[in-house]
Amino acid sequence: MIDTDAPDLLEMPGDWTRALAVVAHPDDLEYGCAAAVAAWTDEGKEVSYVLATRGEAGIDSLAPDVCGPLREREQRDSAAVVGVDTVEFLDHRDGVIEYGLGLRRDIAAAIRRHRPELVITLNHRDTWGGGPGAPWNTPDHLAVGRATLDAAADAGNRWIFPELTEQGLEPWNGVRWVAVAASSTPTHAVDATPGLDRAIRSLLCHRAYIEALTDEAPEEYVRAFLTAATARASTRFADRPAVAFELFAR
Ligand SMILES: [Zn+2]
Repeated sequence: MIDTDAPDLLEMPGDWTRALAVVAHPDDLEYGCAAAVAAWTDEGKEVSYVLATRGEAGIDSLAPDVCGPLREREQRDSAAVVGVDTVEFLDHRDGVIEYGLGLRRDIAAAIRRHRPELVITLNHRDTWGGGPGAPWNTPDHLAVGRATLDAAADAGNRWIFPELTEQGLEPWNGVRWVAVAASSTPTHAVDATPGLDRAIRSLLCHRAYIEALTDEAPEEYVRAFLTAATARASTRFADRPAVAFELFAR
């Protein structure tokens, strides 16, 4: 839930060329963020995705060794819809990702490989939305969100993970912002108008997951969810559907 009494959301900075989105699971970026990604790739910006897991523990009726490859395929298809060709998986285990040095190191390595100015991640706080009765977030999102915020700095320090330099990954100090999607305290937003239809198609690529999640027709479920998600920010963002982010400067 976004506090409508809070100050208006600012336009996201546009003076960058490469973004790297780092999240825990297939579909984390498709529940809203993809509309912003579509707008960015339209402008010629390069956006790459890194996922900590293949989401292999996400479907009760499918064993992980079947589910993982299926969800990887769905993720690659959904990325392609919004102009993202590079999707990497860090092979942490779905559901039990541990915040720690290993995760920070893996994300710092990804940041050094891709050299982004903007890093994107998903809500790293305990709940979805603040306030009483807010749904509890998952430990995977907390771990990856927090480690991504930390790794944006780790990537620039030659001495924190010297083994990365030995592998030929030179420090990258060029991250200027980390943008957290689905934050309860957003500060910035991107107009979702040009990207909304592609965001809907992008989320629909996670068909096996959505069919396991809801009895509703996937098309209706996805359109209703993304329309509501992008409408929530619009009262604070020029009355346009918007993808909101909490932006941390570096
Ligand atoms: Zn997730």
